[in-house]
Amino acid sequence: MKTDLKSMTLAQMQAEFRALGEPAFRAKQVFTWLHRGAESFSEMTNLSKPLREKLDGLYTITVPRLARAQRSQKDGTIKYLWRLGDGNCVESVVMQYHHGNTICISSEVGCPMGCKFCASTLGGLVRRLAPSELLDQVIFSQKESGLPISNIVLMGIGEPLDNFDAVMQFLELVNSPDGLNIGMRHISLSTCGLVDKIGKLAERKLQLTLSVSLHSPDDESRSRIMPVNRRWGVDTLLAACRDYFEKTGRRVSFEYTMIDGVSDSEAQAQLLAKKLQGMAAHVNLIPLNCVEETGLRTSTHAVIARFQEILQQHGVTATVRRTLGSDIDASCGQLRRKYEGGKEDGICRSGH
Ligand code: SAH
Repeated sequence: MKTDLKSMTLAQMQAEFRALGEPAFRAKQVFTWLHRGAESFSEMTNLSKPLREKLDGLYTITVPRLARAQRSQKDGTIKYLWRLGDGNCVESVVMQYHHGNTICISSEVGCPMGCKFCASTLGGLVRRLAPSELLDQVIFSQKESGLPISNIVLMGIGEPLDNFDAVMQFLELVNSPDGLNIGMRHISLSTCGLVDKIGKLAERKLQLTLSVSLHSPDDESRSRIMPVNRRWGVDTLLAACRDYFEKTGRRVSFEYTMIDGVSDSEAQAQLLAKKLQGMAAHVNLIPLNCVEETGLRTSTHAVIARFQEILQQHGVTATVRRTLGSDIDASCGQLRRKYEGGKEDGICRSGH
């Protein structure tokens, strides 16, 4: 079994090379090659041929293959479907904002969390991604699109805190000055609310933005749409968020999907405002992206505007998320499902 070299930090790679009798600076050269998207050791022309052959015998380099790409005609958002080494597929989305290009990456193949409105979890969890596979989404989306990526959101397929160790390793990799050098303040991590892992993350005192998918302020309706709420209820989750802020000094951001008749009543807006009172928080209201299988519908514009108004009247900052890529299945998990369900085939670069 060959080892996955790209999942190693520079320090780990240096230790590895030392054990092989190679100087540490060689590890740095290889690290840089890998983070620039080298697909084989034979490309690493500043290494001797015998060394390249030796490395090739010991290590693998993960290289995702582009299975499909879609580009939005409206706003330039690009969605990639990547085929991993074992044939599984994950999605990444590149969005162009005035403050820079942002990539949304997947953390798992499928998802174990079972949220009722989400396409990613319909088939359950297939497997967790390796650090290299998280990193590859950034490297190869950047290479493929030609757009320099400055921000990362872990909001694609999967629950990042369910893949805790690999995600932490990925953060170290992507943050490395010898690699992509993307600062923690340019990274957001979204969770459905794994309270134990939020506590573990807080201990690390990273400067990233924690986004919590709240979607409802009361246990009854939240448990109905998010099974995780049966383990950790709303108040327990919010206590963990307060604790996260105290430990890291970073304001928590809440995602709140507006679902018709489920999460969008005026009473829920008032309860949400009450529960967030005095908390350093920001609420992002998200119109539900329709996933056919779920039978759930988005709230109307008027209802969303009223919900936002109530929050603001109570001093809670709330914005309504701009929908990007609505013409290209940009809601997470939709493209993978279509493709793996056999409805889509081959490589197609629509809009190019
Ligand atoms: N598992 C993590 C990250 C992935 S989901 C989490 O739950 O936060 C990223 C965000 O998209 C979450 O807020 C999720 O609740 C939301 N989401 C999932 N399906 C959606 C849909 N159909 N419409 C709108 N938002 C959706």
